[in-house]
Amino acid sequence: MASCVGESPQDKASVGGGNCSHACESFPHDSEKPQGIADIEKPSDDQSQQQSQPGDQTVPEHQSQPHRTKLFVRVEDKQWPIVYSPDYNIGFLGLEKLHPFDSGKWGKVFNFLKEKGMLSDETIIRPSEATTEDLLVVHTKKYLDSLRENIARAIPEWSVTVATITEVPPVALLPNVVVQRKVLKPLRTQTGGTILAGKLAMERGWAINIGGGFHHCSSDRGGGFCAYADITLAIKFLLQLGMVKKVMIIDLDAHQGNGHERDFMNMQDTVYILDMYNRSIYPHDGYAKRGIRQKVELDFFTDDGPFLRAVDKYFKKALEEFLPDLIVYNAGTDILEGDPLGALSISPEGIIQRDQLVFEIARRRERPIPLLMVTSGGYQRNNASIIADSILNLRRLKLIECPQAEEHLKAQVQPASRESDVDTGAANANPTGTRSWRSWFSFKK
Ligand SMILES: [Zn+2]
Repeated sequence: MASCVGESPQDKASVGGGNCSHACESFPHDSEKPQGIADIEKPSDDQSQQQSQPGDQTVPEHQSQPHRTKLFVRVEDKQWPIVYSPDYNIGFLGLEKLHPFDSGKWGKVFNFLKEKGMLSDETIIRPSEATTEDLLVVHTKKYLDSLRENIARAIPEWSVTVATITEVPPVALLPNVVVQRKVLKPLRTQTGGTILAGKLAMERGWAINIGGGFHHCSSDRGGGFCAYADITLAIKFLLQLGMVKKVMIIDLDAHQGNGHERDFMNMQDTVYILDMYNRSIYPHDGYAKRGIRQKVELDFFTDDGPFLRAVDKYFKKALEEFLPDLIVYNAGTDILEGDPLGALSISPEGIIQRDQLVFEIARRRERPIPLLMVTSGGYQRNNASIIADSILNLRRLKLIECPQAEEHLKAQVQPASRESDVDTGAANANPTGTRSWRSWFSFKK
């Protein structure tokens, strides 16, 4: 065990009292690095292509030869910069019932937004699955090999690796081909979604991936249901394409984001990480904490008032210290009260106010900062409806806008009674629809 160096030179804050008691460990740094960038190729001019057809762009991988990615699909003006595919959702023969999560969360978010008349199949952007070449921009070949199907050699070994990462032990009993299709393919598609949404955020000012946020995965190891380092990948793609020079990650999931912290450990002038998390839960990654520039450690069952005040204070402080070209917002909802893993006590309304606060601080300024939001952890049955209500709240406040999509929707037949017919299960999440997060600043615990 290495000596504990997690507190300096980074700032550290504590909410709810108590002291840092994290463990520290040594960690070998990834020696495989991606190569330089190649020119971006222009998308095809064939307008007859569907929107999901790729406008190939060339990005580097570990080898010196750059590869052509198909992740940057063609996008129309009438499409919201909101990314989702039905392929995000995971079902593994009922075994998911043994895991404390809703493995269909992403599809439910989309369906709620569709039922509320915000999105349609035509106005959503469907991403492609990240290929091995895409993943090699960050991941080591050794790590990807450890995940790859190898029926001839390693059914037990390979499935055990995935079972460990997904924290679903029965996965180890499934044939590799099933795990590959049912678990890893959805996670690769969500990863493709985050990379695409990064580019969209730079082009449109903001973007939301309804999935992604696998913040425990780094270039050479997974964990905590995170098999691919989508946040690192999105940032590396943008850096290598020359679309950004400085990026801030604001990670408000209940858990420490040790994956991106490890990946950007030696790039703190380029990537500033603000992380707020429950100090007493997984992953207790003392080494990764060295990668945090602004750390806010929460006590068990921290509730709305102190939580929202801390988001306001430390996000603004971070932006005074570091002005990024892009903010990547890891908007995990496992901070929700009752979450068995997050062990915090944030109400549904508190989550909506948190997202509003982040968008207001990033976007309502003289020079708005592009923002990419990913949904990360939180798999109770009501998380999907809360995420959908939060996105609807951002739209209502015009913190997210897409006039062409709204025009397209108006042109469609929308029964007037439709909205009131739909119960998202979070009707009380923001009962007045008018209360501001500012009301929590006089909140007493
Ligand atoms: Zn989490």
